[in-house]
Amino acid sequence: MFSLVKKYMSQGTSSQYDEEVNRRIIVVNLFSAVGMWVTFFLGLSAIHSSDYPLATILLVSSVIFAISQQIQVRNRTAKGRVIAMSLLLGCLMMLMAILTITGGSENTGPLWIYTVPPVTMFFAGFQRGLLATVLFTLLICILLFMPNDALLLASYTTAFKSRLILSFMTVTFLSAFYEYSRQKSYDTAMYLSEQFERQAQHDPLTHLLNRRGVQQRLDQEEARSKRNEQAYCVAIADIDRFKSVNDKFGHKGGDEVLKRVSQVFSNRIRKHDIVARWGGEEFLFIFPETSEEQAMLVAEEIRAILSDSPIVIDGKSFKVTSSFGVCEVSKDLDVDKALNLADQAMYRAKSDGRNRVTPASAL
Ligand code: GH3
Ligand code: MG
Ligand code: MG
Repeated sequence: MFSLVKKYMSQGTSSQYDEEVNRRIIVVNLFSAVGMWVTFFLGLSAIHSSDYPLATILLVSSVIFAISQQIQVRNRTAKGRVIAMSLLLGCLMMLMAILTITGGSENTGPLWIYTVPPVTMFFAGFQRGLLATVLFTLLICILLFMPNDALLLASYTTAFKSRLILSFMTVTFLSAFYEYSRQKSYDTAMYLSEQFERQAQHDPLTHLLNRRGVQQRLDQEEARSKRNEQAYCVAIADIDRFKSVNDKFGHKGGDEVLKRVSQVFSNRIRKHDIVARWGGEEFLFIFPETSEEQAMLVAEEIRAILSDSPIVIDGKSFKVTSSFGVCEVSKDLDVDKALNLADQAMYRAKSDGRNRVTPASAL
């Protein structure tokens, strides 16, 4: 029973949607189900008491509630959701206006208008919800305060009318305030979670992607490469004799060099390429939709630019070089093996004299 209710409520939701969108879809499902059954049974009860105009209004509303839920489930677009939500709110407000005009059962009809502010804020959010509720308040005021009760079938005392409007405005204010704080907290939570996610994926020193961050890009590249059956390349670059940089300029100076090298690398890669800090003074490049031959040319260019770029630390200018290992990832060679081979090729570049690019095919 519980799982059936849960299944009904989550109709139309998707893990691809924003959490806020899913929440609204669930609320529309819940509200349309409650609205449909309440108006349906009240409609039956109106038939029983031979109040056919009220029965017609209630049963038509019941059908509108059902239709709006179906629109949302079948038309899975933002437009479909807005139509479903507008239908529900329109139907709710119309019912409340009719209850106010007719007085419902023994003049208690207007008491139901308190459902409007929370439901409207829930559906439409703070701004649109507040606007819709203010318009609804104006409508109810016109209905209640038209001279000689011209628009009313029921009769209410002036004290009842004024207290109804005042208490309704209080509920509107509280609902709007609640929705505003809820949206603000949600926005703050989203902002913080994005910040944490960003921090977790980036290296604080160089601001490049870290190992965890680049793993996600590798997975994406792997999926894309499988989809369009096109090879891509990975390259591992290691700064040459970095220990001596640390020895000469201290660890802080070494850090500064790492930052400069990162800037040179990220300024020189092409738009779709990725560079990440793979480890201490090692960098990983991803060259999407690129053969080994093309990647060799790009890596060679990056290597040459670094070796020609003077780096100034403590007023002293010097140059650092790097050694690259390049490997193509294809359907015959998975990414883990390719990373391993790129690493081996990088070590070959070191043993061949450093400041050079070696392809895995040369191993
Ligand atoms: P090779 O040309 O063979 O690569 O020589 P190398 O000196 O670069 O290689 P080795 O692996 O012996 O030394 C790497 C050094 O990089 C050792 C380590 O202290 C330094 N290092 C690693 N990470 C950092 C860092 O974040 N900051 C600084 N300043 N140094 C780092
Ligand atoms: Mg190293
Ligand atoms: Mg090194």
